[in-house]
Formats: sequence, C-alpha cells, structure tokens
Amino acid sequence: MNILVDGGLVVSDKLIFDGAVAIEGNRIVAVGDSNELRKRFSGFERIDAKGCAVIPGLINTHTHAAMTLFRGYSEDLTLFDWLNKRIWPAEAVLTPKDIQIGAELAAYESLLFGSTTLNSMYFYSDEGSELHAFEKAGIRATVGHGFFEKTVEDGLKITEEMAKKWHGKDEGRLRVSVCPHAPYSTGPKSYIMAHELQKRLNYLYGDKGKIILHTHVAESREEASVVKKAFNVDVSGGVVVYLSRLGILSNSLLMAHTIHLTEQDISVMKVFDVKPSLNPVSNLKLGMGVADCMRLLENGLKVSLGTDGPASNNTLDMFETMKIMSLMVKGLNCNPTLLPSKEAFKLATEYGAIALGYDDLGAIRPGYLADIVILDLNLPHARPVHDIYAHLIYSVRANDVKTVIVNGKIVLENRRLPNINLLNFLDEVERVKEHLLNRIRATVV
Ligand SMILES: [Zn+2]
Repeated sequence: MNILVDGGLVVSDKLIFDGAVAIEGNRIVAVGDSNELRKRFSGFERIDAKGCAVIPGLINTHTHAAMTLFRGYSEDLTLFDWLNKRIWPAEAVLTPKDIQIGAELAAYESLLFGSTTLNSMYFYSDEGSELHAFEKAGIRATVGHGFFEKTVEDGLKITEEMAKKWHGKDEGRLRVSVCPHAPYSTGPKSYIMAHELQKRLNYLYGDKGKIILHTHVAESREEASVVKKAFNVDVSGGVVVYLSRLGILSNSLLMAHTIHLTEQDISVMKVFDVKPSLNPVSNLKLGMGVADCMRLLENGLKVSLGTDGPASNNTLDMFETMKIMSLMVKGLNCNPTLLPSKEAFKLATEYGAIALGYDDLGAIRPGYLADIVILDLNLPHARPVHDIYAHLIYSVRANDVKTVIVNGKIVLENRRLPNINLLNFLDEVERVKEHLLNRIRATVV
C-alpha cells in the first residue's frame, strides 16, 4: 500500500510546517511541502496529519519485552535480590505461550506509546516466543535468546536456529541478535563463543541486516568484583576492559546500562565504537546509579536509550525515558545547556537505529524505512508550539500518539489497533498471570 501522510509538522532534517511524507512499500520516497506532494502522489492513500507532529518512530534499544507479565511483581528490592528471589524463580516456570503473550502485550504498549522498534533479550522457543508476538503485532524488532554460563551451549544452538528461521523476516522487520546475559552471569569462554557465533551468523545472514551482540554491562557498582569472584578473571581496568581482553568488542556490540565505567573502559569503548544503551528509569528504580550520558557522548559514542524490562521500569514509555534522561543530565551536571532537546531526540531515534545496525532507519528521509509516528498536538499541554523538539522531550505524553506506521504498514490508526480486540486480549493477559502465579506458588511450597 502507498501512503501519503499529509498536512502535519514534519520533523525531518528540517522542520516542514504543513509538510507531507510519501511512502511506497516499506520506504519513504519523498518528504516535502504538502501542496507539492499531494499533486505528485495523488493516488496514494491519504492520512490527514493536520494539527499533528509527524516524527520518526522511537527506538527502544534495551528491553525484555515479555517481562510485562512481571510489571509490579517485584518491587523495592536490590538488583541481586530482585533477580535471585523474585525474577529468576518466576522465569523458571514461564511457558513459551506466556512469553509470547507477554511480548505481544509489550508490542501493543510500545506502538500505543510511539515506539516502532524494540531490541529485546529473552527466551526463545519454536512453540512460542517474542518473535512470534512481534511478527503478529507488526512492530520492528531485534530479538535474542538470553543465555547464562550454565545454558550457553543450548543458548548458542537456539540462537543459530532463530537466525536461520527469523533473521530478515517480513521485509527485514525482524532481526536476531546474540545475547550473553552479563559478565557476572556468563563466563569468559562463553562470551568468546558468543562472539564467534555472531561473526559466523553475520557471514551467513548478514546480507539481511547486521546481527548484533547484545549484553548487560556495568549495571551495578559491585560488578567487577562479582565477575572476578565468579570466574576468577582479571578485571583490572574495569569490566569493559576485561571484555576487550576477550576480543569480543566491536561496533556491533550493544551494551545495556554502562553506569559504572572507568576511564579505561570508556577509552576502549571509543576505540571499538561500542554502542551504549542507557536505561535511566530502570537504573533509578533499582537504585543502580546514573550513567554519565554526557561523558559518553563527548567521547563520540552513539548513546541510545532503552526502558529495560517492564518489571523494573514499569512501562515501555520512551517519551518518559527521553525526559528523565534529559533532566538527569542537566540536573546532575548543574548545567541546563547540556543535551538540547534536538540532540536528546536523536538518542531515541537516529542513534538507536545505528546501535541496532541500521543505516536507513530512525529519521524521516527519502530512502529510509517508513517507521513513522503521528502525534496529536491538538491538546492543551501541546500548545502553543514554539519549539517542537522541546515539546517532544518535555511536553508531549506517550498517550498523544495517534497513528503509527511500521515498515510502510499502518499498525495503529487513531489509537486503534486494527487487527485485535484489545479488551479480549487484556483478559487473556490476566488469565496468563493467574496461571503463572499458581505455578510459582507450587514451586515455592
Ligand atoms: Zn536488561
């Protein structure tokens, strides 16, 4: 289907008031003045964007989508208690069907909140998975099967099967990644094997899109000492320096969190152009500290943003994430001139796309993939419009999202999901939750 998004304030490389975006197949073919494009693309299906902002879809570069099922389930605990006492025992009884329903819930939440791409790490099974859910919901996603030291062999095998089956599916909308969980849970040999697999999969399937390595790094202050104790390895210089000694760093490595870094850590990240994904809401909620966004940006690193899983956030709201990141940068540095809104918006769009290995996503440009969000500005909190970028970071709410296009297809129209009865689906989510709680109770007794 060909679409003309017409009559809105188009946030492209320049701002176009009364602008339009023409979409053919899954690509943007023209961006410009509404009068002109309406004539050129008169046969295209017209979406009226009058009084709206037309923006690139937001890109959430770190989450565990299916953990929507644990939203509010584990509160007010330290990271290691949160994982060991609540999350990991509950995950042990999750079924593939649960994971699929949780991820489908995450996809609808994300689309309704203006995110068009998710980078998620969770557990894959042919019987049901995040990929099955994202395929159905129409969201763009990179998905990896998270593995630990004890599950590395299975993890690598499953990842290979996933890549063969899913990578590049649906006109490139779905991609697969390699996901060793974290340096404290996954040993040095496992990281090396994961990196070897990444290289092999890129050789085999890289023509359908880059396959990234996605892992957690430097989330807690104690991480280096926990890694040293767990695997008896040399962590001098920092956790990233340790990973660099394993030879696994590259520009296709996405590190979530990167809060507790040394100067040497940042230097090696710079050398390899590693991609940090900052998750300010989750980090604040779990009391992990705050990543130094400006220091990473000043070192030329392409910082992107993530929500982390909905069990530690407790939403997938990237508008909230952009706002909190911006406020933290300004407040903690006692300097309101840092991270202007236009720059902050890039973290959640262009830089997110680069972090996931895309060179044609994250902006409204001819030739780019057509992932577009139409935001309603006909609301009191969005008027008057002086500076649209300031609106996008500070004033707009995720609920202002009206219509969403992913890969050239309308996946949300006037806040309605076209292919699903949402209330019935939410009832199903509650049933899944009840069955899950019963299974958790049965294992605890
Ligand atoms: Zn995470």
